[in-house]
Amino acid sequence: KLHNIIQDLKGNIRVYCRVRPVSSAEAADSSHDSEMSLDFPATGDLVERGLTVTVPSSSAGQAPQKHNFAFDRVFLPGTTQQNVFDEISELVQSALDGHKVCIFAYGQTGSGKTFTMLGNREQPGVIPRAMKQIFENGQRLAAQDWHFNMQASMLEIYNEDIRDLLSRKKDESKKHQVSHDSNGVTTVSELTVVDINRPETVEQLLAQAMEKRSVGCTALNEQSSRSHMVFIMRIEGHNKTTDVKVSGVLNLIDLAGSERVKESGATGLRLKEAQAINKSLSSLGDVIMAIANKQDHVPFRNSKLTYLLQPCLGGDAKTLMFLNVAPTREFAHESLCSLRFGAKVN
Ligand code: ADP
Ligand code: MG
Repeated sequence: KLHNIIQDLKGNIRVYCRVRPVSSAEAADSSHDSEMSLDFPATGDLVERGLTVTVPSSSAGQAPQKHNFAFDRVFLPGTTQQNVFDEISELVQSALDGHKVCIFAYGQTGSGKTFTMLGNREQPGVIPRAMKQIFENGQRLAAQDWHFNMQASMLEIYNEDIRDLLSRKKDESKKHQVSHDSNGVTTVSELTVVDINRPETVEQLLAQAMEKRSVGCTALNEQSSRSHMVFIMRIEGHNKTTDVKVSGVLNLIDLAGSERVKESGATGLRLKEAQAINKSLSSLGDVIMAIANKQDHVPFRNSKLTYLLQPCLGGDAKTLMFLNVAPTREFAHESLCSLRFGAKVN
């Protein structure tokens, strides 16, 4: 009961922090500062709620600063993809029950966002697991005379422009316009929509997704780190016996890297990219905060991302934010920024 009240006050927004392990490259490279910057309460559990980040002092003689945070969950480096999914499968399921759900991955480049959302063949992440769960449970419900229509799209928002990630055409020069109807149904013009009606479609979609959003490349100038990837699954259900209809949407978002791109000094395309990322991530924070604080005006229109997701944020929609952080001291400052962002919206 109390949990429900708290959830209600928070407007259905949850924040889960995931700490990635120290990579073997980091551990081996002595020029890297591979010392840990994160501490967890030692209860021996893989799922915690609190963590402490220690930020090295910038000047000699000054003590390092410790900052404490608490979130709905903190996943330690040993947490598997399955462990993580176990904690969100109920939320994913609610999209099949007719809810609108958004799951974001927020964090600096290299912190594990794409690993969490997409994963790889051996360790599939949230997107493949969610698609599989929804598809399989939908089929299971056929025994109770439920009939489901499921459709998926995948797009990228780069410099406030939408790109279709499922388009088979090489040269994608179409302009995609976003519109919402009075029922909160979103349309993106000219966007490829794939019917999910066989398990093979799920496999195929994933192969395409992996290809488009290649995992494992951590170069800071990697293109995918400068765009938001949005996977949209629309689920329409109809019970032929009772004539009950449900309509849910699951949005899974791999956000652009949150490292502050300096606008000063940057020129041309770099400057435009930096401004677009900074603007859209801060807009997302503003929107989630406005919803959490039940403000009358929610500034959805300040960025393409928040405008696209408008019907799926606030109201009785459900939002989960993964804060992805790297554990080493090298990234302590960026981790602190991400944790602060999460604390602000939590
Ligand atoms: P981002 O998308 O935030 O830039 P990635 O997901 O590409 O970061 O992760 C950076 C690297 O760290 C990748 O090689 C990825 O496989 C690895 N990695 C990230 N999170 C984990 C994890 N929880 N367990 C194992 N490897 C991880
Ligand atoms: Mg990535």
